[in-house]
Amino acid sequence: MNKLAKINDILMCPSCRAPLLTSKDARECTICKASYPVLNKKSLAFITDPDELKANYIWKQVFDYDYGSYEQIILNKHAGEVILEVGSGINTLKNTKYENVILLEIYPYPTTDVVCYAEKLPFADNSVGGIFCSATLEHVKNPFTVMAEFVRVLKPGGHIKIDKSAPYLQAPDLLYIFCPIQKAQYLSQ
Ligand SMILES: [Zn+2]
Repeated sequence: MNKLAKINDILMCPSCRAPLLTSKDARECTICKASYPVLNKKSLAFITDPDELKANYIWKQVFDYDYGSYEQIILNKHAGEVILEVGSGINTLKNTKYENVILLEIYPYPTTDVVCYAEKLPFADNSVGGIFCSATLEHVKNPFTVMAEFVRVLKPGGHIKIDKSAPYLQAPDLLYIFCPIQKAQYLSQ
């Protein structure tokens, strides 16, 4: 299965928003000539600085849980369309079971399809049928920019499913708490 082939037509340079040319080992911007390599023959990387990638490495744990009922509804409704999972962690089950779900992370884990920041998605406007974002939005640098990106890349009629984890589960790399009650509890600890 070549998941990257499914997204060649909808990729966009995250720097200048131009279309990308496809080669076996990289994607090259047609305007600014930036080159985005395929790492480990699998992960298309829009973050290429080795020190930055090293700093982004968090997970050691493999999470092999399947999608829940809300995601299944979206998967059925948008079968055949590209669906993004933003902040997928390492999940071998999702990686192999769902050919149209592209797994995004900020580090090239063994199950990562695209390495990028959620604030700068390398996808064209109105190009994906669905977006899953689970226990991730509270960790990004700018959740409002991320939400604007979700709206930008989602096709009309597309669906987004977002959830968050409890703050105490995700310390210390937690950046944002959306619920005011949980925020007060977290800060009083
Ligand atoms: Zn470019």
